[in-house]
Amino acid sequence: MSASKLAILGGPKAVQSDPGDMFRWPIITKEDEEAVLEVLRRGAMSGWDVTMKFEEEFAAWQGTKYALGFNNGTASIHAAMFACGVGVGDEIICPSITFWASAAQCYSLGATVVFADIDPETLCIDPNDIEHRITERTKAIVVVHYLGHPADMDPIMEIAERHGIKVIEDVSHAQGGLYKGRKLGSIGHVGAMSLMSGKSFAVGEAGMLVTNDREIYERAIAFGIYERFDERIETEYLKAYLGLPMGGYKYRMHQLSSAVGRVQLKYYDERCAEIRKALDYFWELLDGVPGIRPHRVKWPDSNMAGWYEPHGHYVPEELGGLSLTRFAQAVRAEGSICNPGCNLPLHTHPLFNTADVYGHGKPTRIANSDRDVRQPKGSLPVSEGINRRVYGVPWFKHYRPEIIEEHAEAYRKVAMNYKELLADDPGDPPVLGGWRFFQAK
Ligand SMILES: *Cc1c(COP(=O)(O)O)cnc(C)c1O
Repeated sequence: MSASKLAILGGPKAVQSDPGDMFRWPIITKEDEEAVLEVLRRGAMSGWDVTMKFEEEFAAWQGTKYALGFNNGTASIHAAMFACGVGVGDEIICPSITFWASAAQCYSLGATVVFADIDPETLCIDPNDIEHRITERTKAIVVVHYLGHPADMDPIMEIAERHGIKVIEDVSHAQGGLYKGRKLGSIGHVGAMSLMSGKSFAVGEAGMLVTNDREIYERAIAFGIYERFDERIETEYLKAYLGLPMGGYKYRMHQLSSAVGRVQLKYYDERCAEIRKALDYFWELLDGVPGIRPHRVKWPDSNMAGWYEPHGHYVPEELGGLSLTRFAQAVRAEGSICNPGCNLPLHTHPLFNTADVYGHGKPTRIANSDRDVRQPKGSLPVSEGINRRVYGVPWFKHYRPEIIEEHAEAYRKVAMNYKELLADDPGDPPVLGGWRFFQAK
């Protein structure tokens, strides 16, 4: 018999059962396969018919007038920026903790980005850190519903309306989620999102733009969907340019993806509800355990969507200062999943400090600006410190209580026996988490 209960010190593992398809995503059935084969056999991979059906169904589900398919989320956000009028010398405001494609495309429009800090609880843009960053060059605020958690949209919309600037919701982590009864993506002026296989709404490589604004919709068509930039366009000033893409991008969705998307959409809400039931149960089991807290929405009529890459908050002060690194090692030794960190703060990357992408002879971040908007280390303290205080937990796709209980027990056991881990604590390395965010499971 080992002296310790902890697996990392020789005890038995908390997680013993076979996970089966507990973590498999997306859920692909014969119906998805048939839908893809139909397009393939018809030779309709590059057409528009399936995508337009998908858009119609997606708009109805989203509750917006328009939905426009893209080849990926990066392209849909790029088009959303253009559609909001982001151009040379303009600025967007975006949280520093997000995937790069919430912001980096602004460079190719001649614009730049000013990063805002995040709220340490929601992990989304801090509504109190936006207004003082607005200048006469600010065209849009990009809001990210990070890791499924809705951003606090009410104060953000209020600020945007007051300054006459647009709000772009990056819904890549939170398709179908609710903020105070409203669907994420239809609260701002435009929503744009990734539908790639790693995300919550997963169809392959694809993206979607949603809006109620005809001009935004048509500018997005003008930007990336040239074959639909035709006589259907109603916006007067765009009519002079019909036929060719404004800016030279071709962003149409691949129809094998749209075919999968149409099938996935039918089951998406039901599957997300089961994921939320599973994660709610996991966190309920850990209620009151020191050092760990859920990253979970507290507002009424709000939810965590498909709970994309669920995370927990880490409170080392309650665990004798145990490093997240050591904590995570011990949880993984129990057979569960615990990935320290999240996305790294974008403002610290050389792309946003020194890189001269287009040969301006100066960093692209300030190439078209009349002021230096770069943000040195130390300027966004929550974003810079958050990777030591969050960790990815198992993303259960099914409500199977026995398996969930084993994983919760892994976390509980480690937290309750933290004192045994203090002696060999290596501390945290300088960097936890990553730029890409995808981590080994
Ligand atoms: C994945 C992601 C994107 C980009 O989507 P792609 O489909 O990979 O191009 C944009 N924003 C966020 C927050 C993402 O996670």
